[in-house]
Amino acid sequence: MSASGILVACLEPFMDVSASFSALAAFVGRYERLFVLTGAGCSTDSGIPDYRDADGQWKRTPPIDFQLFMGDGLARARYWARSMIGWRRFGKAGPNDTHRALAQLEASGRMRMLVTQNVDGLHQAAGSRAVVDLHGRLDEVRCMHCAHREPRAVFQQRLQAVNPAWIALDAADAPDGDADLEAVDFSRFAVPSCPACGGILKPDVVFFGEQVPAPRVATVLRALDEADAILVVGSSLMVHSGYRYVRAGASAGLPVAAVNLGRTRADDLLTLKVEQSCAEALAFMLEDRAAA
Ligand SMILES: [Zn+2]
Repeated sequence: MSASGILVACLEPFMDVSASFSALAAFVGRYERLFVLTGAGCSTDSGIPDYRDADGQWKRTPPIDFQLFMGDGLARARYWARSMIGWRRFGKAGPNDTHRALAQLEASGRMRMLVTQNVDGLHQAAGSRAVVDLHGRLDEVRCMHCAHREPRAVFQQRLQAVNPAWIALDAADAPDGDADLEAVDFSRFAVPSCPACGGILKPDVVFFGEQVPAPRVATVLRALDEADAILVVGSSLMVHSGYRYVRAGASAGLPVAAVNLGRTRADDLLTLKVEQSCAEALAFMLEDRAAA
């Protein structure tokens, strides 16, 4: 893919909004094998908070890392206590217009693969099929010592059954099904273990400090190899596991467009940047469906 035909870069903060939307529609219309990478900005309209501010900095305490979760029982208790509260709303969240627009993009035949850094399964709920959950899914729990897996909804029942005093607690939602529960004695929270082997159960998501499984990376790289352009939606790309694909694609000459409110780590690699809400910027994809 040559660099010819590159669209006007829209990095100026005061660029006309409708012009940037038109440029995005033109970008999407120009390619037939889009590689789409999505992040937390897609799901904020579904009531799931994101982690970062417009500068890509943490808005809150970074999420738990893998070593701490596996090595510290009190940290695990804190994680699951907050998750038990947060899941009640997270587990009920539904897709929004951004998810629906991207499902429509796939249905139109212009998309090769959608790789999401989100763990909420909302792209699939909206009808997307060619999805790779780069960081896994929060709706499943797995044992770290044997092959046991169970739906998060089942584990939620087990969590509540052994922690009845915690059911009445509430706290503000935090990203990834977490809740801002503090100032309680987490040592009093009971964490059920694997019913098969007694091992440590963990949500089937890639924690900080944990590697994305190699077969998953290989699938994504193959899709990137077959793509003719990259569209980033709702991600600051601050996490290397997502940023690496944009960097690799740009190095291979793929044009990259991004829709994100605020800075991204790949701003210097972008052909087109639209600093608007995802749902508004992608609305043209749903209009195409309405017109069809
Ligand atoms: Zn087990």
